[in-house]
Amino acid sequence: MYYKIVMKILVTNDDGIYSPGIAALAKMARKFGEVQVVAPDVEQSSMGHAITHSRPLSYRKSPIHFEGIEAFRVNGTPADCVALGAHINNITDVVLSGINMGPNLGNSMWHSGTLAAAKQAVLLGMKGIAISTPVGKSEPDFGALEPYVERTLDLLLGTSGLCLFNVNLPPRPKGIKWTRQSVRFYDGKIVPGMDPMGRKHYWFTITPLEPAEPGTDRWAVENDYVSITPLRLDLTNEEELAKNQQKQLV
Ligand code: MN
Repeated sequence: MYYKIVMKILVTNDDGIYSPGIAALAKMARKFGEVQVVAPDVEQSSMGHAITHSRPLSYRKSPIHFEGIEAFRVNGTPADCVALGAHINNITDVVLSGINMGPNLGNSMWHSGTLAAAKQAVLLGMKGIAISTPVGKSEPDFGALEPYVERTLDLLLGTSGLCLFNVNLPPRPKGIKWTRQSVRFYDGKIVPGMDPMGRKHYWFTITPLEPAEPGTDRWAVENDYVSITPLRLDLTNEEELAKNQQKQLV
């Protein structure tokens, strides 16, 4: 007997369920399997890998923007959406997170809610792929990105094992590159301002202080290539560990 294996895909994001980026990704993902959307009800950008533990979570059907695709909105973080989504539909093979309206390159991987959703997927035994694109004055041209998202998914969905990938697409891609994360010093500057009532408030701004090194994610996107960075969850500094293990502990 022949069984057709359909890939079960959970689509989420950190911009919230009403973002045009998630609607575009859910439609593109349909070519690769059965899609279900579970996403935050409001924007959760830069929330990192936060999970909700001190109040209950709930979800509601949210069919707007997702013709024919089952979609739910959640009063929680991107990582919550992955955990809850995997619970609602207990067979999930892969989590696609995005398409984020803004890049998630280099240092920003540490803050990204988009990437955190993909990380949560891997922690729970699924494959996780985060997808982001820079946004200028107008919305991204998702039609121009579609062939490259498809090519990237073709490439990544075929790999076996628990895999975590961070994908960033430039507005007009001319190819795809495998890259490493560009971790460079950056300027996390606090800019003070004044509200209409004369009270002080503050904006957190981020500017990289050094140019991107070739072979990195930032370099690829600056040079119009789609960047795919394979990641791992183990943060151990192997070099430091090996060096210190030589020393005698008293
Ligand atoms: Mn975002």
